[in-house]
Amino acid sequence: MLSTETKSIILSTVPVLEKHGEAITGRFYHILFSEHPELLNLFNQTNQRQGKQQTALANAVYAAAAHIDNLSVILPVVQRIAEKHRALGVTPDQYPIVGETLLKAIKDVLGDAATPEIMDAWAQAYGAIADVFISVEQELYREAAEQPGGWRGFREFIVRDKVKESEAITSFYLEPADGKAIASYTPGQYLTFLVQVPGQPYLQRRHYSLSDAPGKPYYRISVKREAGINGLPDGIVSTYLHDTVQTGDKLQASAPAGDFKLDTTNNRPIVLLSGGVGMTPLISMAQTLAERGDTRPIVYIHSAIEGSVHAFDRQLRELAQQPNFSYHVVYERPQGEDERHPHFAKSGFVDRDLIERLAPADATFYFCGPTPYMRAVYKTLHAMGIEEDRIRFEFFGPTSQLVD
Ligand code: FAD
Repeated sequence: MLSTETKSIILSTVPVLEKHGEAITGRFYHILFSEHPELLNLFNQTNQRQGKQQTALANAVYAAAAHIDNLSVILPVVQRIAEKHRALGVTPDQYPIVGETLLKAIKDVLGDAATPEIMDAWAQAYGAIADVFISVEQELYREAAEQPGGWRGFREFIVRDKVKESEAITSFYLEPADGKAIASYTPGQYLTFLVQVPGQPYLQRRHYSLSDAPGKPYYRISVKREAGINGLPDGIVSTYLHDTVQTGDKLQASAPAGDFKLDTTNNRPIVLLSGGVGMTPLISMAQTLAERGDTRPIVYIHSAIEGSVHAFDRQLRELAQQPNFSYHVVYERPQGEDERHPHFAKSGFVDRDLIERLAPADATFYFCGPTPYMRAVYKTLHAMGIEEDRIRFEFFGPTSQLVD
């Protein structure tokens, strides 16, 4: 239990930390990887280079610290992060290492301003915050292992089939190497892969959304080949999966995870908005609703740069044969025959006019796509007055801010 005094020190120092947030987390990762190089196998080094992980950690720490007098407020954020931690294989013994390193980084950046009282308060606060994460994560580990077909840690899968879905996206059909049952999942969830890519010094861990409906004897993921643009290197894992991994090869994955889930506990219409490869969790939702014979109105609006990189079009056209399912396509820069697509809605970007015209106002909205797309859709849904509990989304990277 933190004392009132400790809590007030934390609350009064949050703005200072916020100001120096990224400097502290930058310093944090520097110390962490110098003192514990084995953790380079756990953290995504590309996110590090892009500074995304620094921002994500800084945001999480401030959110927690700002609610130190009532940590239950941050449970939804904890849940989302804990799902990723469980999927990545984060363990309780790693928390003290992170705590000690964070304190060193705070001290290094704040210097004399970090008095012994402040440092002590932060040590206690970190302990309280870590306990919340550890207990949520332990419960997730238990659930993942104990569900039918479930497992703990990483399990070996065989690539049974590799199917090209568009110029950029390829699906992988995965069956467990042990031939036993696989855990079910809720549409929207993802698998996390542990990959040793030849030539890379560290293990790589990446999440890929399950793109088919559950209940099959296999898992399907669909991966966009992330080509490096402007002289940047190609994406490490997606390129490896596309170019090197073949049918018959093995991959290691942890059990399905994630709090982005199709919610069918009410009868509201469902609107699915995707941008680019962000369609993978949403196509799983659309397919699941169809297989369950769900009769509520379902609106699917997909945005792609152009037709050649538009995956799952045939599947969506088939789904659109059902009377309750409408399908609309937005091409940023339509080419050739793109504007003749039978479900073509507009060129450019998805916007408020389009969503208001196509989507039932009382729907639950699910969306996933590149960060600028996510920001635009979130802003639009807010401007339309959609309440927060009817807005559900997934980020394909460390969760960024949806609003500035
Ligand atoms: P990385 O090596 O991680 O590189 C990513 C990008 O960074 C590349 O474009 C690369 O060119 C660029 N880059 C490299 N170095 C630098 C640098 N120094 N500075 C700036 N940029 C640099 N992806 C899918 O395709 N399908 C999915 O269904 C899917 N689902 C996901 C679900 C979740 C919950 C999450 C979090 C992510 C999901 N992703 C999905 C994204 C996926 O996990 C990977 O992030 C993606 O495949 C890129 O990984 P990579 O190893 O190929 O690229």
